[in-house]
Amino acid sequence: MERLVDAGLCASCEHSRRMESDRGSVFIRCELALTDPRFAKYPRLPVLECDGYQPKDDVQTADTRSAKEG
Ligand code: SF4
Repeated sequence: MERLVDAGLCASCEHSRRMESDRGSVFIRCELALTDPRFAKYPRLPVLECDGYQPKDDVQTADTRSAKEG
């Protein structure tokens, strides 16, 4: 069974990537940290305030999303 982690804002942020350790604990990697040093790569959860927070605008995976023109 999957254990839920209270990730705060990261849980619904499009920059977050959910990671799981060998021991089954779940944590969040912030992809924004790759390009912006203000953000921690592995933020301490739950994140309650974040300047980089970007809500996911849909629940589809990137694979099913069709490329937009323009
Ligand atoms: S930008 Fe902020 S809210 Fe989004 S994943 Fe990174 S730390 Fe979490």
